[in-house]
Amino acid sequence: MKSVAILGSTGSVGTQAIEVAINLGMRVSAISANENLDLLEQQINRLKPEIACLANSQKAKALAQRIGPGIKTKITSGQAGLVEAAIGSSAEIVLVATSGTHALEALHAAIKASKTIALANKEALVSAGSIIIAEAKRSGSQIIPVDSEHSAIYQCLEGSNGEFEKILLTCSGGPFKNLSKEELAMVDSKQALMHPTWSMGKKITIDSSTLMNKGFEVIEASWLFCAPPEKIQVLIHPQSIVHSAVEFADGIAIAQMGVPDMRGPIQYALAEKKRVKGLCGSLSWPGLQLTFDEPDLERFPCLALAYEALVHGGSMALALTSANDLAVDAFLEGRIGYYDIYDVNAQTCVKEQIADPASIAQVIELEKSAKARAKGIIDAIASKRGR
Ligand code: MG
Repeated sequence: MKSVAILGSTGSVGTQAIEVAINLGMRVSAISANENLDLLEQQINRLKPEIACLANSQKAKALAQRIGPGIKTKITSGQAGLVEAAIGSSAEIVLVATSGTHALEALHAAIKASKTIALANKEALVSAGSIIIAEAKRSGSQIIPVDSEHSAIYQCLEGSNGEFEKILLTCSGGPFKNLSKEELAMVDSKQALMHPTWSMGKKITIDSSTLMNKGFEVIEASWLFCAPPEKIQVLIHPQSIVHSAVEFADGIAIAQMGVPDMRGPIQYALAEKKRVKGLCGSLSWPGLQLTFDEPDLERFPCLALAYEALVHGGSMALALTSANDLAVDAFLEGRIGYYDIYDVNAQTCVKEQIADPASIAQVIELEKSAKARAKGIIDAIASKRGR
């Protein structure tokens, strides 16, 4: 029976991963949460993991007092505690389902320890791709992506020699794919939070609507599959049935299809690529209609910005994701408008230095300075708008 450590076990991917792991007969040997003490406590009682980490040390103390005497789970906290959750249990597989750069150090440690990584976190590759990929090459750690598109591309490349002509990265188009530029400028956070296909957290729902999320996925794909920007084409595919495709030298494309259900890519990673019975339903084929279109970079400029960051290289993508974090928060709070998200992102990363960050500590430093710049830009826009 294999075991898995789930970092970010109380989030959307984390809770689904627990169901998938149990269904596969796996042991969950470590879990972690950022905030949600109550759910983490329930998970400890149910799973009896070796280690459970709660980010805040005060809350972690309260948690340690709450769990029953029969449970031997070690409660940890902070960055050191998260690293321990990643590498200190018997887990062979570490699923990283945290958001932001919070788990970067833990991910890096897990790769160093040659664990198999199921990667559901985007920021890791967007902000520290060169460090993560270099370390994985050195340690032989296998990174299996859990983002649905990247899982699809990974599956399309199975059995090939890794060479391809083009990656076709599909995209639902978000809730606003048919709005004009003028209409988009008027969108508020309530409208932006209605995503047509996937039910997700607030931040990623906004990122899907601006196509910033797809932009980050382009960068993620570039690192995972060693693909230059010109070999990654985004296609708007509103049905979200083809999760992505790969075109080869002979003109043949292989597409990966299925119902849109995150438990599919989670299972593929946790089962280490074996095809076994899972929790996802299968497609109903009769009447199935699939359409593919090019994205409009004029209306969704955040996607173009991601390509720019990828071409530019170095820490520009890191500055972009740092700025976007704060810009989306400010938009959700009603402080800035929809297209201001793009302005904040563009202005923050335009002057970013070119060199690749050399260490995780430097990534965290660069993130801090990019966020400070973004905050200044947001404040200026908000005060101009009288908010
Ligand atoms: Mg995705």
